Amino acid sequence: MKVRHFRSFRFKMVRYILLSLLATLITEGIIFLGIYLYEIENIAGEYRKVWGASGQGSMSLRMLSLSSSSVLDIIIILIFTLLLFIMYFILISHSFVMYVREIISGIERMKNGETMEEIPVRGDDEFSEIAASINEMRKDLYDTMESQRIAERTKDELITNVAHDLRTPLTSILGYLDLLTQGDFLTEEQRQKYLGIVSAKARQLETLIKDLFDYTRYGKDKVKIKKEILDLNLFMPQIVDEFYPSLIDNQLECRTDFYEGALNIEGNGELLARAIGNLMSNAIKYGAEGKIIEVRTGRMEREAYVAVINYGKVIPPEELDKIFDKFYRVETSRSLKTGGTGLGLAIAKNIVDLHDGHIWASSDESGTRFQIELPEVGSRK
Ligand code: ATP
Ligand code: MG
Repeated sequence: MKVRHFRSFRFKMVRYILLSLLATLITEGIIFLGIYLYEIENIAGEYRKVWGASGQGSMSLRMLSLSSSSVLDIIIILIFTLLLFIMYFILISHSFVMYVREIISGIERMKNGETMEEIPVRGDDEFSEIAASINEMRKDLYDTMESQRIAERTKDELITNVAHDLRTPLTSILGYLDLLTQGDFLTEEQRQKYLGIVSAKARQLETLIKDLFDYTRYGKDKVKIKKEILDLNLFMPQIVDEFYPSLIDNQLECRTDFYEGALNIEGNGELLARAIGNLMSNAIKYGAEGKIIEVRTGRMEREAYVAVINYGKVIPPEELDKIFDKFYRVETSRSLKTGGTGLGLAIAKNIVDLHDGHIWASSDESGTRFQIELPEVGSRK
């Protein structure tokens, strides 16, 4: 905010002083005129008593009143003027002083951690600028406190979710181990079956711990990753091939539509394979009833993209942003059959962020599309 000179604090003070002076002079003028008239009337009365009402004494009357002023009178007048001036100055600057007090009490409130109330921004001088700056500070402070609160809550949720997701397979591992150690009556077939369950659950635990580790590792702001130039078109078929067994298991057909030509990006192959792999495994897991999965690559302006599309259950629009949050799962899919812990997309997002890219999802009757967009080499903004 640029303060205009005529609205500056200095100009305001000069204005208050001039106004107080003017009010003082007018008041004194009125008072002295009153006294003067009163005195003249008194003296004229005396004069008339002595000389009659001829009016000839007007000259000597003026002389008389002038000669009555003395040094003491001047001092009294000066003190009176000063007092009057101070009184007017206090009155005229009252609203301004109140405003400064308001600003001070706003700062005090902020100091005590009360950040809800804004300080009103009045006028257009340095103090209104201070008030506006304090309001901005208040907002920043409020935002910081709010994000701290959210971070604290998220941390608690994370711990609760981790504890829950670790406990579930662990409970069943312990249960089956009890059966295996105490149950002499078990047949060999049952024993093998239970051992299989224990092993599957232990693997589930291992995956979860690995996911958690990856999530926290790639979630750090400035984690250094090794990048190289990759052509998405050479890279993508390998990823699709890795999912071949799983596609067969789920009776899914995978259709590919790759961009004709190189799609060079700078990235970490292992991490990108992980991110795109998470999209693929989701498409297989949640789109099994759609029978077809599509994988596309392409370019738009300065970005190369990979899209994984599946058909079947639609993700409600209000859930589309939330599914990238850690541990978030669309409620209907929180079934034992689909299994996951809700970390896959959060990890994919962290990885894409590390590559200065975007990841988004759209979902309607025409299909559920997850798209990763990455800056093409040589076109980084
Ligand atoms: P994880 O990947 O950690 O094993 P998850 O698959 O449940 O578990 P995310 O991959 O983060 O977790 O996905 C979050 C949620 O988003 C899923 O639970 C599911 O509800 C929804 N979702 C993700 N991908 C799809 C998809 N292709 N189609 C429909 N819903 C999806
Ligand atoms: Mg997943």
